[in-house]
Amino acid sequence: MPARTGAQFLAGLRGPRAVWVDGQRIADVVDHPALAGAAHALAEVYDLQHAHAGECLAPDPETGEPIGSSHVIPRSREGLRARAVALRRVADFSVGLMGRTPDYMNVTYAGFAGRPDEWGVAGNEAGAERLIAYQKMLRRNDLSLTHTIVQPTVDKATGDAPQAGNEQALRKVGETEHGIVVRGARVLATLAPFADELAVYPAAPLPPGADAYALAFCIPMGAPGLKFLCRDSVSAGTSRFDHPLSSRFDEQDAFVIFDDVEIPRDRVFIDANLATYNAVMKTSWSPNIMQQTMIRAATKLEFAWGLALRMAEAINAADPATMQAIGEIWSYAEFTRCALVAAEEGAREWPGGMWTPDVRPLHALRSMLPVWFPRVNEIVRLIGSHNVFATPTAAQLADPELRPLIDLYLPGARGMAAERRIRTFRLGWDFAGSALASRNEQYERFYLASSARNLARHLMFADRARADELVGRFLDEPF
Ligand SMILES: Cc1cc2nc3c(=O)[nH]c(=O)nc-3n(C[C@H](O)[C@H](O)[C@H](O)COP(=O)(O)OP(=O)(O)OC[C@H]3O[C@@H](n4cnc5c(N)ncnc54)[C@H](O)[C@@H]3O)c2cc1C
Repeated sequence: MPARTGAQFLAGLRGPRAVWVDGQRIADVVDHPALAGAAHALAEVYDLQHAHAGECLAPDPETGEPIGSSHVIPRSREGLRARAVALRRVADFSVGLMGRTPDYMNVTYAGFAGRPDEWGVAGNEAGAERLIAYQKMLRRNDLSLTHTIVQPTVDKATGDAPQAGNEQALRKVGETEHGIVVRGARVLATLAPFADELAVYPAAPLPPGADAYALAFCIPMGAPGLKFLCRDSVSAGTSRFDHPLSSRFDEQDAFVIFDDVEIPRDRVFIDANLATYNAVMKTSWSPNIMQQTMIRAATKLEFAWGLALRMAEAINAADPATMQAIGEIWSYAEFTRCALVAAEEGAREWPGGMWTPDVRPLHALRSMLPVWFPRVNEIVRLIGSHNVFATPTAAQLADPELRPLIDLYLPGARGMAAERRIRTFRLGWDFAGSALASRNEQYERFYLASSARNLARHLMFADRARADELVGRFLDEPF
């Protein structure tokens, strides 16, 4: 089957799944008020790949059928550039507010399938073959995946990875004729209500003895025993005037419980194999996936800069303090753009022929964006001041008694009509202050681990040779 349309995506979501929002198990995620906005937005993402087929579709390497470009394993720098164009299209759609549009996991699995050498280590050749077969199925059926790779936090003092005997973390508890049985929980599956399947793969390395926790697999959302507890919805009604962003872009996040779930053998990619589990995320995963995440981030920063400018212009705020703050956002956007260029320039080939961007500029961004994004929100709110609340709703504008008064008392500077001013500041609040904005800020702080954690890990990626040489000159070391 070639790349799906939005209607095909929505039809797929009507299958069985155990998703809870508040106290309710949701029978139909497509029409539920808390979920419908994002379901239909994601359908537009699927349609978008057909509307921009030249950029977003590519022939399947084996069947020749058109598949989404994010499913393609890049085999050259040009391949990476082609993928970047498609990723940017998707990022543009939600101005970077939806982090886990299906291209995120498409890129992840293309990256895994491009490294059978890594997944096949330590006796996991069969798991690697099953993974490659799964990625073919994924790209040809153009499925939407959610994923959960982090173990639940119970006691920070015991470390990130579960020790043998941990009763909360996801682990293998048995075998059946057709596969394995898993039990436990994981955090945090963004996109869960809008996914066809759930992916589990490694994150933090596991300690010796924790073999039962060393798992990677994919299963349909309706697998018996699989339960998703969504966080409180931040979706705000259906009015695009009142809530231009939060009426559409709440991608949801869910806590996942595996209440004795059977995973069919052909869906198991790592089966209690600690050595493979601890190996597969160490090299190409990071630069591969960060191409998607940083293109999204760049788009969001460009949007934030444009939004801040419009808000300032609406009230003719051109004072130095305002311009300085807006210039700060522009600088973040420009650093991000430059890092993407540098990462593409330094792109490299891995064993097997897959290409990824240079990890270093992207890892530097990964450390700093969790700090920059909250500051961007702060700036947008500072510029917005009280104006973000002097914003009558669409219903108030439609009231014949109120409308002339709103037009008279709420115009923008230099002849800007009241309605335009209101829309501008509503957009500002929805971006930086609404419940959606607050969730998004939390997302940016943690979705690829905290800034603190990433800064501490920089030596995993940095090349310190030149820095050492510069310092060594003053320590009488030969150079
Ligand atoms: C909205 C959202 C969506 C997510 N979606 C997914 C998903 O789809 N799939 C998935 O697998 N996971 C997802 N995650 C989980 C994410 O992977 C983890 O939250 C992430 O790995 C961080 O793990 P951690 O909580 O151990 O954080 P850590 O890196 O340990 O950071 C948290 C702790 O570090 C300390 N800390 C952090 N920053 C600072 C600071 N600046 N100063 C001082 N202390 C600090 C605090 O004590 C804090 O409790 C999501 C998380 C969020 C918030």
